[in-house]
Amino acid sequence: MRNNIYAYTLDELEDYFIKLNEKKFRAKQVFDWLYQKRVNAFSDMNNLPKNLIEKLEENFDINILTLDMKQESKDGTIKFLFQVRDGHYIESVLMAHQYGYSVCVSSQIGCKMGCTFCASTIGGIVRDLDSGEMVSQVVEIQKLLDKDNKRVSSVVVMGSGEPFDNFYHTMKFIDIINHEKTLHIGSRHITVSTSGVVPKIYEFADMNSQVTLAISLHATTNAVRSMIMPINRAYPLEQLIDAVKYYNQVTNRRVSFEFGLLNGVNDTVEEAKRLANLVKPLLCHVNVIPINDVMETHYEKPKHMKINQFVKVLEKNGINVTIRREKGTDIDAACGQLRAKKGNLKKKENVCQEV
Ligand code: SF4
Repeated sequence: MRNNIYAYTLDELEDYFIKLNEKKFRAKQVFDWLYQKRVNAFSDMNNLPKNLIEKLEENFDINILTLDMKQESKDGTIKFLFQVRDGHYIESVLMAHQYGYSVCVSSQIGCKMGCTFCASTIGGIVRDLDSGEMVSQVVEIQKLLDKDNKRVSSVVVMGSGEPFDNFYHTMKFIDIINHEKTLHIGSRHITVSTSGVVPKIYEFADMNSQVTLAISLHATTNAVRSMIMPINRAYPLEQLIDAVKYYNQVTNRRVSFEFGLLNGVNDTVEEAKRLANLVKPLLCHVNVIPINDVMETHYEKPKHMKINQFVKVLEKNGINVTIRREKGTDIDAACGQLRAKKGNLKKKENVCQEV
């Protein structure tokens, strides 16, 4: 299989060209065609010599994602189902906000984390995506926005998969899209979300990156969290909170806690009080996300009154909190839903943690 050209950093492509006895500056030219002019074929790179185009065609693929399905929501959210080169399917989501367009990318095919509200984990994990497959998701969506002269301004790694279970490729992906010769998405406009892989939170903290860290919390007791998020059995709340404290100290940056409200599971006033106590000592923001009802599941969306009550308790305790609405609720926009449908997997409730 040829290499995906989008998996290369500029330095790597320069090294590659040097080894091919080509001039180093050719790498910058190729990057310009890939990321600024966003061509679909090496043969369109008309300032490159013919023999170099032939070498590129021999060694690299430029189109590694095939769009299989696209669903558009009334709220402007667009969900994409792409087929990758080994025949598997991945999802990406484009969301329109007042401040611009964001893309939610998948980091794995499937997921092994087993969160009970998430369709991505049905069938377990197939494999990690490589950095190029992640970059290609953003590039393909940017190409569609190009038609309307619009730009992807932020990226969230919150689609299918646990990014910290695919740490190397996720970090490389971030480096590539952040680079000034590529899509140049600012670090502060990139968010990576983890279900709580504690050792990787320490590693990420030590990188002292400007990229935002989001943590799916969803419960304030080990009993409930372990029930809905099995990762909590490996890394219970105490360890998770210690890791967040370390992250705060090292980076002086706040984390975003995602808290999906599930009726009768984690939506009580007591839970809100526990949440306030848990996060009060931390530099953080809490996103409360009322989860919409989905057929074939026992999870339901809490009533408005309960949502408001929950948020008021947090506000009264001085917690920075925002209510986020799930996007694309009239389509299969939550993570894993479209792929599950494609694979005829049994549909389950799921949370799109995107805000
Ligand atoms: S919520 Fe995230 S970590 Fe949990 S199963 Fe789904 S994709 Fe995996």
